[in-house]
Amino acid sequence: MSQWQRTIKREVEYHGTGLFRGREVTLRLKPQPPGSGIRFQRLDLEGTPPIPALVTSLKDNRRRITLGGAEAEVEGVEHFMAAAAGLGVDNLLVELTDSEMPAGDGSSRVFVELLREGEVVEQLVPKKSFSLKQPLAVEEEGASLVALPYGDGLVLSFRLDFGKMSSLRQSFGLFVTEEGFIKELSVARTFCLASQIEEFQRLGLGRGVTEENSFLVEEGGRAITPVQRRPAHLRYADEPVRHKVLDLLGDLYLIGTELRAKVFGVKSGHSLNVRMAQRLYSLINQEPSLREGQEVRV
Ligand SMILES: [Zn+2]
Repeated sequence: MSQWQRTIKREVEYHGTGLFRGREVTLRLKPQPPGSGIRFQRLDLEGTPPIPALVTSLKDNRRRITLGGAEAEVEGVEHFMAAAAGLGVDNLLVELTDSEMPAGDGSSRVFVELLREGEVVEQLVPKKSFSLKQPLAVEEEGASLVALPYGDGLVLSFRLDFGKMSSLRQSFGLFVTEEGFIKELSVARTFCLASQIEEFQRLGLGRGVTEENSFLVEEGGRAITPVQRRPAHLRYADEPVRHKVLDLLGDLYLIGTELRAKVFGVKSGHSLNVRMAQRLYSLINQEPSLREGQEVRV
């Protein structure tokens, strides 16, 4: 990845619909100076403070990542965060006219296209990075995430396994580069188990789901479309596990700096991903020598 911090050259805008609530929203990305980080701002809640894209802003991690505080929140930031991580963007103001990020096509594609439309530029101030120097592990209910030292960059590996809920089993791993992210991860769409969709709908969620922006995985492992329940045309045979890796990349970017480590996940989801991000974030921030452009070794 680049040694310099990155932002975009010009303001860009996108209009879309949120996946969970199905409400229309306008998203505007604005360039920011070096050292600002990524922040979200609700335009519909006048005078509310910007929300830093950090694990310290975490408000909810059930099925999606919600950031914010008492006054304002932003829901479903993970696919945007994956795009920012994949393109190495450090500084950005993300303005929204509603609480939920637009779903786009259920992957990171619209965010990649929007960032590219705004033209990602280097700011000639060294990028922050964090090289893990000790093993870290988190686990819950049979799911686990392990991070190991690896100074050359970020490697993400994942094993998808739903146990008795579905026979689908997939593994995927990659060394994260901008090109690799674009080609191998960025268009992998969100999905859920067919057995869980009713529960979502009971909770009033999934109102923005369309035939194209997501799919369901049946107990027997088959992928079907979410509305008409026809066989789904997948973008990759292993699109489900690639989407899990995309989520992991976005969630880990909530540490606010580029990560150098090998991360192995088994059955992990947002709640475990952010627990790892919290562990990493506290390691980074208890180290007083972290300054811009300085690598921290712990
Ligand atoms: Zn996702």
